[in-house]
Amino acid sequence: MEKIKLLCCKCGNIMETLPSGSQDIIIDEETGEMLYWNGQKCGYRTIDCLVCEKCQEKVC
Ligand SMILES: [Zn+2]
Repeated sequence: MEKIKLLCCKCGNIMETLPSGSQDIIIDEETGEMLYWNGQKCGYRTIDCLVCEKCQEKVC
């Protein structure tokens, strides 16, 4: 399995692992994209627009 580079789209930090809670994954019914849970403020986001845990504490 190819390793995905996880980049925070807010601060640009490379994340070693998915932010905690982002193991919650849904499939967007319209686009077929996988959406990752990014916390209460950010909601579900695509893999190329993930937000690290530090940024999740701020307003998305
Ligand atoms: Zn960040």
